Amino acid sequence: MGLANLNDVLKDAYASSYAVGAFNAINMEFVQAIVRAAEDLNAPVIVQISQAAIDYAGMEEISAVARAVAEKASVPVVIHLDHATRLDVVERAIKAGFTSVMFDGSSLPLEENVKLTATVAKMAHDAGATAEGEIGRVPSAAKRSWTREELAELMTTPEEAAQFASRTGVDALAVSVGSVHKMKAQQAMVDSRRISEIKRVVGVPLVLHGSSGVTDESLREAVRSGIAKVNIATALSQDFLRAIRSRLAEDLSVSDARIVLDMARQAVASSVAEKIKLLGSAGKAAGNTRRIPGEMLRSDGPVKRDRALGERAAGLERRDAKDRSEDEPVE
Ligand SMILES: [Zn+2]
Repeated sequence: MGLANLNDVLKDAYASSYAVGAFNAINMEFVQAIVRAAEDLNAPVIVQISQAAIDYAGMEEISAVARAVAEKASVPVVIHLDHATRLDVVERAIKAGFTSVMFDGSSLPLEENVKLTATVAKMAHDAGATAEGEIGRVPSAAKRSWTREELAELMTTPEEAAQFASRTGVDALAVSVGSVHKMKAQQAMVDSRRISEIKRVVGVPLVLHGSSGVTDESLREAVRSGIAKVNIATALSQDFLRAIRSRLAEDLSVSDARIVLDMARQAVASSVAEKIKLLGSAGKAAGNTRRIPGEMLRSDGPVKRDRALGERAAGLERRDAKDRSEDEPVE
């Protein structure tokens, strides 16, 4: 099994009404925890790495760690770029060995989102990778909370989802249905009826972002209604830090960092395992058998790039850094 892309793991999930967990990793311990939990449960899994995590760890560094762990795995593992807002980051990720990429143009005018996402989908497909896009906007709880009315205004409509998916050629589509990024407690309920309505008219698997903040019951219902990829980051980060705090509270004089990091890694693994069971993907690894040859995704072949679109995306990134420095989306 080993390396896979989104189509390898989401087609069966889409057809059989379960979801594959997409867990954010920032370092080796997170990658190992996510893949070990998936192996223990014989589940397909998505290790996702955000643009911010790449800024932290380094593109080649984090990609090499993820690939090394994925290539040895007994289950299919997708290495997915989460929330890229720049085409040059997408291009570098594909060259560095990511098997899948998400472009987030949800804060752009619709036509620009369509154009850039279609460009990303083509770049990905040319390299044997897959692409996710986003329509509607999943906001962030980093700076403030959101009322039900405000969330309703940001939600994806079935019509725009259907048009966006067919015009961009994405393999998976992130939709706004009531979840919020960076929530520290499980309090959100998503609009399952809307998910069903979107699924009815969109031919690709749907993605739920910001799932750390969604209640278990609402998450189950979302999966039953048609969500096939569930993004989780904040909950894992909290578990990692909780384990470190509790270990140090027991003995502040510990001098071997591995003791603390290993406990944190185990905490992330058990949290990932709980989510995998909740999403129904335990035991589903066998449904996904195609293995992507490493060379195909490492090809230095021409990844075509539209310079004007790239520059516009770079402009978006600068605006982001200024306007939204603290609320970069984290699941
Ligand atoms: Zn997200």
